[in-house]
Amino acid sequence: MSSATTATTRKYQLFIDGQWVDSDSGKTFNTPNPATGETLAEIAEADKSDVDKAVSAARRAFEGKWSKLSARDRGRLLYKLSQLIEQHAAELAALETADNGKPIKESLYVDLPQVVENFEYFAGWATKIEGETIPVPGKMFNYTLREPVGVCGQIIPWNFPLLMAAWKLAPALAAGNTVVLKPAEQTPVGAMELAKLIQEAGFPEGVVNIVPGYGETAGAALAAHPGIDKIAFTGSTEVGKMIAKAAADNLTKVSLELGGKAPNIVFADSDLDQAVAGAMMGIFYNQGQVCCAGSRLFVEESVKDEFLGRLSDKAGKIAVGDPMNKATQMGPQVSEEQLNRIKGYVDIAREEGATVVAGGQPPQLDEAFQKGYFFTPTIFSEVNNSMRVAQEEIFGPVVSVISFKDEDDLIKQANDTIYGLSAGIWTRDITRAHRFAKEIKAGVVWINTYNMFNAASPFGGYKQSGYGREMGRHALELYTQVKSVWVDLSGRPIGWFGK
Ligand code: NAP
Ligand code: MG
Repeated sequence: MSSATTATTRKYQLFIDGQWVDSDSGKTFNTPNPATGETLAEIAEADKSDVDKAVSAARRAFEGKWSKLSARDRGRLLYKLSQLIEQHAAELAALETADNGKPIKESLYVDLPQVVENFEYFAGWATKIEGETIPVPGKMFNYTLREPVGVCGQIIPWNFPLLMAAWKLAPALAAGNTVVLKPAEQTPVGAMELAKLIQEAGFPEGVVNIVPGYGETAGAALAAHPGIDKIAFTGSTEVGKMIAKAAADNLTKVSLELGGKAPNIVFADSDLDQAVAGAMMGIFYNQGQVCCAGSRLFVEESVKDEFLGRLSDKAGKIAVGDPMNKATQMGPQVSEEQLNRIKGYVDIAREEGATVVAGGQPPQLDEAFQKGYFFTPTIFSEVNNSMRVAQEEIFGPVVSVISFKDEDDLIKQANDTIYGLSAGIWTRDITRAHRFAKEIKAGVVWINTYNMFNAASPFGGYKQSGYGREMGRHALELYTQVKSVWVDLSGRPIGWFGK
């Protein structure tokens, strides 16, 4: 059966202090299935007063039961959660696809396994967060304690709803923090389902609170809340700046994972089959709604025509359609707003003098999907790096192809962006590959591969792509603070005042 014929409206309340509750206002909002436009779920809409309650609950849990639990027990709870998610993976993947539109193949074989991996990985860290002893001079003993930051506000986007929840929750909880999480209005379902499993795993009430709602209300109230100790955000650079400003008033600690306009670079000496496949994974994966998408495709002039020919040929064959079908390679964009944004950029590209060599319009689909937010894989050629389509984050299956002559010219152009999240390079010359890795200003570099992730490997941006690193041991730095303790070992009075 197609996703269009299985729709039944689900209902979710807010998850605060271990309870499912209506919002104070009684208001709700709907999240559509972007493949059909039909309502998937009705969600309680949190606002400031609900956020206040969630922050208070998280504070009580932080001062109370959660801090009394041993690190081992925290780790065991996280591990239990990872197992529960694994047991429910098929059902969660189907819901993720219904809410976000990503192909079921991706939800099932990429998103869900990575969600499990992140909780599992950080479960192991809970017992390995340690202080150090410092060799200070004199008869003094100095050591450090690595302690949780406290109550963390976490605001996540819609492109990888469950995975972003995992990236945020797992390290925060492993380090002993409590959390108030706000999922994106477009895709709240995954986080609400996760709340059920958090309850089932046996986390004490108030350790995780989930407050779906709108960014301007629930999100803004969370970011500006004086009762939180840290705010972690993933989303647009524009909203990231608003978060940083709101946090500044309370000097709340901030970490930001923001937009990107990644250069994906193809040299003439690369394995072109590999590079074509990598360029496609770089931009069409998840309908191009990826912050590290390789949206600026730099191709060495001597192979540009051949490369572009192969790329447009393959792009034209991508199966766009019902995301619940396992053969589908691209589903709908997440929302009508995103679809319109993409269409707008196609017009901008034409006005700027770029050529649309593939896609550029919605696909022809069966009746059941005619209200869905689908777009075809799109390639712009004759782009130069200063055009808007090369500088602004489009967040869709749209790639700008830019040619380059030599390495110096390339590095200058690749770094000529406000962003610095990721970069890819395709070449058989290892010296060049590593030289590039050193010279590019980006937080992640992929050599002869793209979009590789692991819970143990750090991810985050340079420049306006944000600050802080998620995953790996680096994520623990975001969720812990260091206390330095001095102990006198001499037993004698110090200083000269008492003499
Ligand atoms: P966004 O506005 O940055 O949304 C991300 C999260 O922030 C959502 O939970 C959102 O809530 C919340 N938010 C919005 N305004 C807020 C505010 N004033 N205070 C606190 N929280 C706030 O992203 P978007 O509107 O969904 O997408 C717009 C563009 O952002 C995309 O086209 C893309 O360029 C970029 N984006 C980047 C990433 C990434 O991973 N780097 C992810 C998503 C989008 P709502 O649910 O109400 O929006
Ligand atoms: Mg939705």
